[in-house]
Amino acid sequence: MAPSVAVIGAGFGGLCMAIRLQRAGVSYTVFEKAGGVGGTWRDNTYPGAACDIPSHLYSYSFEQRDDWTRRYPRQPEILAYLERCADKYGVRARLRLNTEVTSAAFDEAVNRWRVRTAGGEEHLFDVVVTGVGQLSRPYLPDIPGMAGFAGAGFHSARWDHGRDLTGRRVAVIGNGPSSAQLVPRVARVAGHLDLYQRTPNWVLPKPDGELGRRPARLYAPLVRAVRRERTYRWLEGVLFPVFVDGWSRRMVTERARELLLRQVPDPGLRARLTPGYPIGCRRIVIANDFYPALTRPNVELVTEPIARVRPEGVETADGAVREADTIIYATGFRATEFLAPIEITGRDGHRLDEAWKGRAEAYLGVAVPRFPNLFLLYGPNTNLGHNSIVVMIEAQVRYVMKCLALLASRGPMEVRPSAMDAWRRALDQAMAGTVWETGCRSWYQDESGRVTANWPRSASAYRRVTRAPRPGAYTFGPPTGA
Ligand code: NAP
Repeated sequence: MAPSVAVIGAGFGGLCMAIRLQRAGVSYTVFEKAGGVGGTWRDNTYPGAACDIPSHLYSYSFEQRDDWTRRYPRQPEILAYLERCADKYGVRARLRLNTEVTSAAFDEAVNRWRVRTAGGEEHLFDVVVTGVGQLSRPYLPDIPGMAGFAGAGFHSARWDHGRDLTGRRVAVIGNGPSSAQLVPRVARVAGHLDLYQRTPNWVLPKPDGELGRRPARLYAPLVRAVRRERTYRWLEGVLFPVFVDGWSRRMVTERARELLLRQVPDPGLRARLTPGYPIGCRRIVIANDFYPALTRPNVELVTEPIARVRPEGVETADGAVREADTIIYATGFRATEFLAPIEITGRDGHRLDEAWKGRAEAYLGVAVPRFPNLFLLYGPNTNLGHNSIVVMIEAQVRYVMKCLALLASRGPMEVRPSAMDAWRRALDQAMAGTVWETGCRSWYQDESGRVTANWPRSASAYRRVTRAPRPGAYTFGPPTGA
C-alpha cells in the first residue's frame, strides 16, 4: 500500500517534495508553521534581498520560467515563483498553514509516526520528511545592554517595514551576505550608517543584469536546458575547485582582490576589509554595491569590537559611543541546530537531539539510524558554497521518492549504523581537504568547530551518491535492534 507522508515546511525543499508526491499520487500533508509558502524567501524581506545563483539554476529543473526579470532574482520574484509552483502543481489543498509541528514520534506498535502540532492535534503518518531549512531561525547575539536600547532593533530576517529609515542613524551589526545586500539600500536613505564588522569577508562581483524581453523562440525547452546546464557546469568546474585548493583558487582570489582595489581607493579602509583567511573558508559575498556603499560619506565601517549596547547607541571596546536610533541585527541564523525545536523521537524512545549531541549527522544527509521512515531535506552536510541548493534538494527528493517505493513493498526502512559509519568516514576524509578546515570560524561549523553544514564534494558527486538507495544500507520491516 502507498505510504502516507507528512512533510514539514513549505519552503524550496518541502514544496519540491510535495510536488513530487502530488504527481505520484501519494497521500501527503504539508505542515507549515507560517501563514504562507516560501520559507526563507517569505521571511527575508529586507531591502535588497536577492539570490546569488542565477534564476534558471535557482529554480526547479522541472519548472523553468521565461519571465525572470533579472539574471539574479530578487526576493519578491522568487517568492512569487514558489507561490505559483504551489498553485500550478495543486499543492495548496494539502497545505496546513499556521500549523507548527512540535513533535514527531515513531510508534513501534503501529509502525507509524505520531505527528503533533502546536494546536494540540495528532496525526498518524507512515513517513516524515523534514524540509525546515538550515537558515530558518534567526540568531540574535547576546550583547550586554541590548534590551535597554531606546530605539528600534530588529533582525534582518524579521524586517520592520513599519520603520522608515529615511534620515535615521542606523547601526548594522554583522557583515555577512544579508548585511552586504541591505547596507547599500539602507545607506542610500539613512542620515548615517555604522557597519559593525567583526570579521571581513571576501567579496566577488555579481554579473547581474535585467533579462529584458527576448523572442519567445529563444526560450525553447532545449535552450533553457542548455543555459541551466552551462551555468551548473561553470559553478562545478570553475568555482568548486576554490573550495578544495584546486586550479581556480588563485584566479578567483585575484578577482576578489581586484574588486576591492577598484572599489575601495582608501588603503586604510581596504586593509580593514581584507580577510586574513583563504577565500571560500567563510561564505563568499557576491555584490557589486557593497564596497561602494562603505565609501559613502554617511557610512562608517567600525572594526573595534562591540562592548555593549547603550540606550542611545553602541559602545565599542575603546569606550567610543556611536549614537543610533535603529539597530539592524544582520547576525545570521541558528544553522547548526537543524531540526530544533521540533522534538523527534525514533524507535525505542531514541531522541534526535540526544543522538546529535556530539555531532549532527545523517547518512547522505537524509537518513538517521534508529529513526525509521524519517527523511531529511537539506540536512547535515548538504549545504553548498558554490552551487544551487535547489540541485541538492531535487537530488534528495528523488532519492526519497525511491525510498518510498522500497518501503511500500518491504516495510519501514532504517539506515544501518554500519552504513552511517562508512558515510561518516568518507565525509570526514573529503572534508579534510576543504578550505573550511583551514582554521577560520563560520556558521558552517558547530560549537566544537566541526563542519556540519557543508557537503565537501561537488554537487555532481552528491547527485551520484543519491541516485538510488542501496537496499544493503537499510534494514526493512518492523524495526528491531540497538
Ligand atoms: P552570517 O553570514 O552568519 O553573518 C552574520 C554576521 O553577524 C557575521 O558578520 C558575524 O560576525 C556577525 N555577528 C554575529 N554575532 C555577532 C556579535 N555578537 N557581534 C558582532 N557581530 C556578530 O549571516 P547572513 O548574512 O544572514 O547570511 C547567512 C547565510 O544565509 C549566508 O551564508 C547564505 O548562505 C545565506 N544568504 C544568502 C544570500 C544570497 O544568496 N545572496 C543572502 C543572505 C543570506 P563573524 O563573521 O565575525 O562571526
